[in-house]
Amino acid sequence: RTADLMVIKPSGLRYEFLTPSSMVVCDLDGNVVDGSESPSSDTASHAYIYRHMPDVYGVVHTHSTYATAWAATGREIPCGLTMMGDEFGGPVPVGPFRLIGSEAIGRGVVETLERYPKSPAVLMQNHG
Ligand SMILES: [Zn+2]
Repeated sequence: RTADLMVIKPSGLRYEFLTPSSMVVCDLDGNVVDGSESPSSDTASHAYIYRHMPDVYGVVHTHSTYATAWAATGREIPCGLTMMGDEFGGPVPVGPFRLIGSEAIGRGVVETLERYPKSPAVLMQNHG
């Protein structure tokens, strides 16, 4: 990495209203460096991931319909397709359920990906 900064969406702003200038720049402790909005409630978790996984250059945190539905089962997604092997290196692991608003989700992501080092993705149980 070249800078210990991250950009994250502001808290409570719907995606359709996001602009480059509404994004919030934070250091890897979650402190705001630039921006006029409050950063996402996930800031501490994303910062934890960046601090503990120096090869990570971006975090896509999504509650997409299918991923969230599968996360509700608490099970990993089995590697049943060739493309899954290509993209994920095996099953998509499921991490523990953790409450939002602290670095707890980030800790769960890092702990899970340490056990599945080939995977670039993790489902968080009952989350997404
Ligand atoms: Zn989330």
